[in-house]
Amino acid sequence: MLTNDKLSEWDRENFFHPSTHLAQFARGEIPNRIITGGSGCHIEDRDGTRLLDGFAGLYCVNVGYGRPEIAEAIAEQAKELAYYHAYVGHGTEASITLSKMILDRAPKGMSKVYFGLGGSDANETNVKLVWYYNNIRGLPKKKKIISRWRGYHGSGLVTGSLTGLELFHKKFDLPLTQVVHTEAPYYYRRDDLSMSEEQFVQHCADELEALIQREGPDTVAAFIGEPALGTGGLVPPPAGYWKAIQEVLDRHDILLIADEVVTGFGRLGTMFGSDHYGIKPDLITIAKGLTSAYAPLSGSIVGDKMWKVLEQGTDENGAIGHGWTYSAHPIGAAAGIANLKLIDDLSLIQNAGDVGAHFKAALQAELGDHPNVGEIRGEGLLCAVEFVSDRDSRTYFDPGDKIAYQVNAALLSRGVISRAMPQGEILGFAPPFCLTRAEADEIAGKLGESVREVL
Ligand code: PLP
Repeated sequence: MLTNDKLSEWDRENFFHPSTHLAQFARGEIPNRIITGGSGCHIEDRDGTRLLDGFAGLYCVNVGYGRPEIAEAIAEQAKELAYYHAYVGHGTEASITLSKMILDRAPKGMSKVYFGLGGSDANETNVKLVWYYNNIRGLPKKKKIISRWRGYHGSGLVTGSLTGLELFHKKFDLPLTQVVHTEAPYYYRRDDLSMSEEQFVQHCADELEALIQREGPDTVAAFIGEPALGTGGLVPPPAGYWKAIQEVLDRHDILLIADEVVTGFGRLGTMFGSDHYGIKPDLITIAKGLTSAYAPLSGSIVGDKMWKVLEQGTDENGAIGHGWTYSAHPIGAAAGIANLKLIDDLSLIQNAGDVGAHFKAALQAELGDHPNVGEIRGEGLLCAVEFVSDRDSRTYFDPGDKIAYQVNAALLSRGVISRAMPQGEILGFAPPFCLTRAEADEIAGKLGESVREVL
């Protein structure tokens, strides 16, 4: 076995880490953390440090670490048939079974599942399908996609453009011109604090309508949004938001893509975020929770309305020219089946809802009165604490203060992982669904200590 020093050296010499300050890492200013194992809500690193993972990896290990049921399903599939492609009618029992299981759980009106590998490529597929759909309908000008500032939809060319966070655009010549952004439903950060929730929802719908009019309704093809904002700040929308948005889109024949990469399969305490908020999507993006990250797998769930046109398109133009070598990879599909069964058998969605409510209340009890805690928010097991230098005026800290990063580090030193979100002083929590009330209390208690240490 390699020594820790050797591994660290190889890491710095050879490994290009994603979403990392490369120069700081090369200089040794960012520590290597080499993870060796995990069980339930905990992971362990090579030094033997055990950490309570309050962010389920990257909000994806939803059923928790070390599940033998999924590991065995993967091993069985690999032994029997590690790979065959899915082109031109080929398939495996695993991929066909999983597509049925997904549609059985999906909101009404969905027709088929296209499988990919991760959330970014699934959204890439969605954009292509939207464009194809409008070309087949004879509407070649109707191509623009509206996304929200603070939305996160991946970091590819199109998906990085959809993402409404500056970090993912800077120096990459993004966003592409076919993408336009509208306001996020971030009630806490509204410009006019005198607005009620209802007025703010109307304001978001009016902003969207105005944007569509400016761009020209005949040029706008689709709107993409996470049911509750994730990476952009973990922000559940105000009541009525999705109904108001959906009305605007319907008026202008604009498709709705629900990006459920984070919210799909239970994180908000319901199977899909679309169920939670009464959204009627034309396309749904799924990834992370589909396999709880035991294997890379994503999907685009296509609604009935689009499916009919896609079929018509192939009658007119031949086979659809879209496919990955690893679409519907059998090992990913086997992991997905075992994962969805576990979620059902252990009632994990119910637990996400129940323990999520308990966790939010515990955070509130611990930090609700702190002068630098502006908002504690969340739905199910997706929660955030936002820090402000002044609570009444909601004033931001100076960008250099990096309060969320400091609290994150203080919490880590107490054995708990959280995530300092990339924009704003926001600390995020999205633990595995098997979190117990005792573990929720432990996170809240240690967070209280950490905040009091930093602020
Ligand atoms: N969509 C959402 C809502 C996400 O949160 C993410 C990743 O965090 C993605 C898409 C991109 O997924 P991936 O990182 O698997 O490409």
